[in-house]
Amino acid sequence: MTLEIVRLYHDLLGTYGDQGNAEVLIHRAKARNIDVNLTEVTPGMPVPRSGDIYLLGGGEDGPQFAALEMLKADGGLNYAAAGGATVLAICAGFQIIGDSLPDSNGNKTSGLGLVGAHTIYDASPRSVGELVIQPSRGGLPRLTGFENHQGLTLLGNEMSALGRVLSGVGNGFNQQEGVWHGNVFGTYMHGPALARNPELADAVLQCAAGPLRPFEDPFANALAFERRSTLAGN
Ligand code: GLN
Repeated sequence: MTLEIVRLYHDLLGTYGDQGNAEVLIHRAKARNIDVNLTEVTPGMPVPRSGDIYLLGGGEDGPQFAALEMLKADGGLNYAAAGGATVLAICAGFQIIGDSLPDSNGNKTSGLGLVGAHTIYDASPRSVGELVIQPSRGGLPRLTGFENHQGLTLLGNEMSALGRVLSGVGNGFNQQEGVWHGNVFGTYMHGPALARNPELADAVLQCAAGPLRPFEDPFANALAFERRSTLAGN
């Protein structure tokens, strides 16, 4: 099997090194002898419909809406997700995959609707800083990341958050952070999130590649441990 990873518009959506999530997945897949092919989708290119994992990063409002419009017009990401493809969407990407979000003029617009989530901008100060969450599924440990967003995201009742906020803001409602719905993951965590959280990387990988043989990466583990322990007192 060759695992097809599709990185969407990383030149528009790639704040704080979110594009590195692809490199982490490739590294951890290859460590299990899984062949990987990475497709870079740039503006104007059709989105492949048969990918296994699709990656979206964060970005400023202008690039975010340019990306949203292209994804709506193309339809490839929706097609792949409906067929069970795995999706990891960070920050602006997380907002894009929801049902609605404000456009660049602040008016409500529809998102891709891969998850039940509505993003609003209110008068709250921007959410900026370190984020620590406790997932309740998948045997995941405490996860950490860096958040920087104006939008706050309310999940629909049928949705599960990625985790419960221990410190930071996250979605801004009900102590929830991110979403994990079927094979679709959304989160406000930059870092890149998968570099800071190797267990989350494996959870994403496993959705697409099935059960994984054990792999310990001391460098990745040390980074995850350092961030968790440094932030434990916050
Ligand atoms: N524009 C969005 C917001 O501010 C996303 C920001 C980001 O991706 N860092 O809420």
